[in-house]
Amino acid sequence: MIADDAALAEMIAAFAAGSGPVAVDAERASGYRYGQRAYLVQLRREGAGTALIDPVACPDLSALGEALSSVEWVLHAATQDLPCLREIGMVPTRLFDTELAGRLAGFPRVGLGAMVEGVLGFVLEKGHSAVDWSTRPLPEPWLRYAALDVELLVDLRDALEKELDRQGKLEWARQEFDAIATAPPPEPRKDPWRRTSGMHKVRRRRQLGVVRELWQTRDRIAQRRDVSPGKVLSDAAIVEAALALPANAHALAALNGFGNRMSRRQLEQWQAAVDRAKAMSESQLPQPGQSVVGPPPPRAWADKDPEAAARLSAARSAVSAVAEELNMPQENLIAPDTVRRVCWEPPQPVDPDSITAALTALGARPWQVEQVAPVLVAALSAKATNPQATGSTQAPQGTSAPQGAGPLGSPEAAGARENGSQENGAPGTGLPDDGVRQTGARRTGA
Ligand SMILES: [Zn+2]
Repeated sequence: MIADDAALAEMIAAFAAGSGPVAVDAERASGYRYGQRAYLVQLRREGAGTALIDPVACPDLSALGEALSSVEWVLHAATQDLPCLREIGMVPTRLFDTELAGRLAGFPRVGLGAMVEGVLGFVLEKGHSAVDWSTRPLPEPWLRYAALDVELLVDLRDALEKELDRQGKLEWARQEFDAIATAPPPEPRKDPWRRTSGMHKVRRRRQLGVVRELWQTRDRIAQRRDVSPGKVLSDAAIVEAALALPANAHALAALNGFGNRMSRRQLEQWQAAVDRAKAMSESQLPQPGQSVVGPPPPRAWADKDPEAAARLSAARSAVSAVAEELNMPQENLIAPDTVRRVCWEPPQPVDPDSITAALTALGARPWQVEQVAPVLVAALSAKATNPQATGSTQAPQGTSAPQGAGPLGSPEAAGARENGSQENGAPGTGLPDDGVRQTGARRTGA
């Protein structure tokens, strides 16, 4: 393992002199350490062999990133590794993501092991991904596993490139890879405490305040000790305490997730957080619900805006049909959030230009716009006039669908569209609701 500047300089020279794409992987210590930093970086390139770098001993790899900046980087599930690579100075300009390639090519299983086996016919040893990579020294067998992760990545890339080309999807994949490589670093989440699992049970503002106080206390402790927050206090325990609003540390100790092996001092520190929330004025307490802007959760649409619910149902059916046709997951064809936003507030009037502009503004790539804009125009132009309009998966297909083609193509439906009639929403039929539930079930099952 490379752990000093001299060895790193030698390695950089060797990799700069190599040929072809470079395979890159990084291992973090999720579930063990506080942050998401890399604890091991693996690279492989033709002519240079495999290198394992200790980024704790060598925290600045920008010279390596620089030396490889004109080279294509091959990663498996790049969005997982790019943030921690960026932290140590490694940012690709061109990349190939073998996991994403597998999705676009319609592989049912896109884990590295499954793909190497399915595409190249090799069985990878596994069972190391969840270990604590911050361990030092790293055991020899772990290092061997880690080297395997980059061993066949370029071969896999070459095979997938051929397959994508054969399916006519190579240009689409390139657009996806470019989008990942050029995406700015994600913004820190607003109110991360709202993502505590089990939050849906917490409704009152006082209880939300307890969740926030406990979460923030836990986060400070986890950061100081550099351990995963879940090792300090479980999400379930936070929710328990919020629902119970214990009167004192003794009552707190009786709750699930507290008490067991917990010292008096620890209990008191959690109870102090609960007490802070209890003492807050109404105005200091967090507001319920999502703090995010944008449409409400889809299950609420039928109540809030039945027409929007019908639009979403029709749009999801249409997108689902195109995804099936193209043999790829719906979420890779178009981000579900993008579809929701366009359905919640469609541009006026709905036509190919306005939908194209809306999708593009929400970050859809040109190939995605090309594939889904025609069916979204059809789905959003239609009113929910009959069961087929909301429930059918036989939505108009591809670019060949002129206005009114498919099950929505009756003259009546076209007339209703032109009149913009509100009466066709057919209140009381329950259709939008059913449609939403059906498509929802289909998506979760996929
Ligand atoms: Zn790995």
